[in-house]
Amino acid sequence: MERVLVTGGAGFIGSHFVKRILSADDVAEVIVLDALTYAGHRENLGEAFLSPKLTFVHGNILDAGLVDTLVKGCSAIVHFAAESHVDRSFFAAGAFVTTNVHGTQTIADAAMRHGVKKFVHVSTDEVYGPLPHGSASETAPLRPTVPYAASKAASDLIALSYFHTYGVPVCVTRSSNNFGPHQHPEKIIPLFSTRLLRGQQLTLHGDGLHVRNWLHVEDNCAGIELVLRDGVPGEIYNLAGGTDLTSKELTARLLKLMGADWDSVVHVPDRRSNDIRYSMCGQKAAGLGYRPVRDFEEGLEQTVDWYRRNPDRWAPLMRNPQAAAVTLSAAMRSEEEAHA
Ligand code: NAD
Repeated sequence: MERVLVTGGAGFIGSHFVKRILSADDVAEVIVLDALTYAGHRENLGEAFLSPKLTFVHGNILDAGLVDTLVKGCSAIVHFAAESHVDRSFFAAGAFVTTNVHGTQTIADAAMRHGVKKFVHVSTDEVYGPLPHGSASETAPLRPTVPYAASKAASDLIALSYFHTYGVPVCVTRSSNNFGPHQHPEKIIPLFSTRLLRGQQLTLHGDGLHVRNWLHVEDNCAGIELVLRDGVPGEIYNLAGGTDLTSKELTARLLKLMGADWDSVVHVPDRRSNDIRYSMCGQKAAGLGYRPVRDFEEGLEQTVDWYRRNPDRWAPLMRNPQAAAVTLSAAMRSEEEAHA
């Protein structure tokens, strides 16, 4: 692997992956292509900028000319860039389809033209949709319920179609909910941690019984690197973590870590669509040697500690939460009116 293109490398998971892959001896150059949307920040790459192997390109995966120039000469692509925040997809589905589906097709086109040796498309357990019981294997039907998950399912199929049609060596990874340092403060663990740090109340959606599987971001990146190196082209690999929690159980752990109690929690109506449970079977990735090794409680404590020590990194992203909430609810109201 001489030169690797990482799309979305200034985002949460992508930036952790860039730091990891930069330290691989057989990687000569890592090119990060990132549009620096609200979710992408150069600061996430931090010390990675010290590496002479890193080239950072501020640009859009929809820019076919730019993508073509960057893919030329790359032996591998790891494709993280996406619109990834489920709640935003409820009122801006178009951006999700454009970036996630058309963006993936643009990257796959360039991968085909330049004969890359491996293309890892990074996806999610949400494509399988809710599973009240049991676990989804890689052959389970795709039953996404929200625009984010539907756009990811479509992007998985587009990526895999380039394997079947043109022989592009595509692998798809589907991971569960990631957590770890410098995740955007809109996501539940950062949101609840930062609200508690500010002495603000938490809002728990619905009955708080929705189950998510939690995977430390470093474990996901290790799994993605494994698939990059050893994954069989045309195959999908589920990357699950070891910890299933309801949102109520997760809240209890965060309250305990921050020395707060249930008086800090208000119950609010459930969000527009909230799948009851996701669960994946991870045997296939285990066959490649994938094992999530990070202890959940320890990882959570370190994550909360990162938010405690780095308010300069997250507070500016929530500078005016009231205004953001008003904009969000206004957008949702107008969407409802449009569908009335
Ligand atoms: P993120 O939102 O933190 O990062 C996405 C990055 O993509 C940002 O840096 C953003 O600037 C960039 N980007 C967005 N649109 C772009 C465009 N048009 N051109 C170039 N760059 C663009 O997301 P994340 O949480 O790091 O997730 C990374 C990938 O992993 C996504 O594909 C997501 O669907 C998938 N995933 C995430 C999770 C999770 O728990 N966070 C779980 C499973 C799968």
